[in-house]
Amino acid sequence: MSRVSVGVTTLLALLPIIASAQSLPFTVAVIDWQPDERERQARSYRSEAAEHEVLYCVESWVVHHISEGLDRIEITSVRRDVAGGKRAIRDIGSHCADRDGKLLPTIHTHSDGNCQPSPSDLVAIATRAAPFDGVQCGDRYVVWLFAWQISAVFEFRERLRWQSPDTSSR
Ligand SMILES: [Zn+2]
Repeated sequence: MSRVSVGVTTLLALLPIIASAQSLPFTVAVIDWQPDERERQARSYRSEAAEHEVLYCVESWVVHHISEGLDRIEITSVRRDVAGGKRAIRDIGSHCADRDGKLLPTIHTHSDGNCQPSPSDLVAIATRAAPFDGVQCGDRYVVWLFAWQISAVFEFRERLRWQSPDTSSR
């Protein structure tokens, strides 16, 4: 078993305990891969991510309801979309739409080993509002982001600013 799947398995084992203990007011989604698709993505990353950023579209996934407040999202199909520059893909927003024009989740690569989303990544992900998005920074390392969580932080920040303009200013 790979390190990543051990990590996911451990997380899946722990999350019901965490979720029930803390009663999170939202559903936690753990993103996982159909095994063949995980290997395909790892090979694809190794083959070209060092040269330039690559954008992938997640075309299909299955949501498994694990327990109250916990879902496992299994990615079953990913398509390579475009390659960008060394450091950036311009205008992710218009890419990765399905036949009905609905925006699909994206995965884009960072070749420097740092999966942290850039400010423009966060804006693009929040604006597109897909169910989830990933930043991949190694053949088996992906940080998953959720547009609704970015929006929630933004709204919370705006509310603070409105309630207390003096303390929330930069
Ligand atoms: Zn990025």
